[in-house]
Amino acid sequence: MQAILALVGRPNVGKSTLFNRLTRSRDALVANLPGLTRDRKYGLGRLGERDYLVIDTGGLGEETDAIDALMGEQTRAAMREATHLLLMIDGRAGVTAGDEALAEELRAMGKPVVLVVNKIDTTAPTAALAEAYRLGLGEPMLISATRGSGLEALIDLVVPMP
Ligand code: GDP
Ligand code: MG
Repeated sequence: MQAILALVGRPNVGKSTLFNRLTRSRDALVANLPGLTRDRKYGLGRLGERDYLVIDTGGLGEETDAIDALMGEQTRAAMREATHLLLMIDGRAGVTAGDEALAEELRAMGKPVVLVVNKIDTTAPTAALAEAYRLGLGEPMLISATRGSGLEALIDLVVPMP
């Protein structure tokens, strides 16, 4: 089965940066795939032997932490299409009320959720980890989307070997 990863998170946590990283080698738009709309940004990625589809959810509101603004219709649709939900948080900012609300929403989907702690290049990993565990989503994956660190471990976790 094709792994479809939806990148979900508050504005500025680094979703688009991770999207670009994960799809760098094959950033062809796949808007023609049946069942997918053009409203969201899709990209094909490959790491080692593993192929996956990534959805960048760019439509979240910038203005507030309110749950309604965070969960735009576009994001909800991406969450429905996905096989795996990647909740991204900013390791430097720590866990916010908005992150907690998102964690609840994602959990309610009944799909595998992976907590991705980004910008680990800017903060002490142990501090970021301790905060992240509070979200109750299991082992947080520590990454730096700008540096590309931690991505292999992340893909190892969500995309099975062919
Ligand atoms: P989005 O709103 O979630 O899509 O976030 P973006 O990908 O647009 O990133 C928001 C800002 O965070 C940009 O200035 C990025 O360069 C920066 N950023 C993203 N990932 C990292 C990272 O791993 N480390 C650092 N230091 N900055 C990052
Ligand atoms: Mg973005």
